Amino acid sequence: MEQTLIIFKPSAIERALVGKVLSRFEQKGLTITGMKMMQLSEELLHQHYSHLVSKPFFPLILHSMTASPVIVMVLQGIQAISVVRSLTGATNGREALPGTIRGDFAMSNQENIIHASSSPEDAETEIRRFFRPEELFPRTAAATPFINSTDELGIPASPPQGTDSQDKKA
Ligand code: ADP
Repeated sequence: MEQTLIIFKPSAIERALVGKVLSRFEQKGLTITGMKMMQLSEELLHQHYSHLVSKPFFPLILHSMTASPVIVMVLQGIQAISVVRSLTGATNGREALPGTIRGDFAMSNQENIIHASSSPEDAETEIRRFFRPEELFPRTAAATPFINSTDELGIPASPPQGTDSQDKKA
């Protein structure tokens, strides 16, 4: 199972969209394994967006991402990183496809509702950046066998009920 980091940006918090966006992840079958609210510091944002520090819009990122507290979350699932990126949509909300989170809730490049890790390497670094180990709760949700098939979960398939050896003898 993969884990991926989501940040509900101030655009989600202040527009009261957290519940709507989170329900999309839950409906899809992703499991929450970490969640907390925090105020981001400029220092943390320099680390998190280090690939964008030289861009002319970096001051905008700092301003926007510190405008309110954010909610950081870890979601778990098979191929969770790419699944969440597909649900998220393109960076610019005006160009993101309808049906995606940004396509349905955003009209902006910066005010685009959530951050989602873009690769397994980034996800690992980002989860460590925002969560201490004791704040994470990797677990197998009770519904897991109804979210993924046994072959996907690496579990040997048991015979269908009513076809065990005793039934055959009878
Ligand atoms: P993504 O969030 O889709 O992974 P990037 O890593 O390229 O995209 O950018 C990180 C964040 O920086 C974006 O989500 C957005 O908030 C901001 N950003 C990116 N490009 C622009 C831009 N051209 N103008 C304003 N903000 C931008």
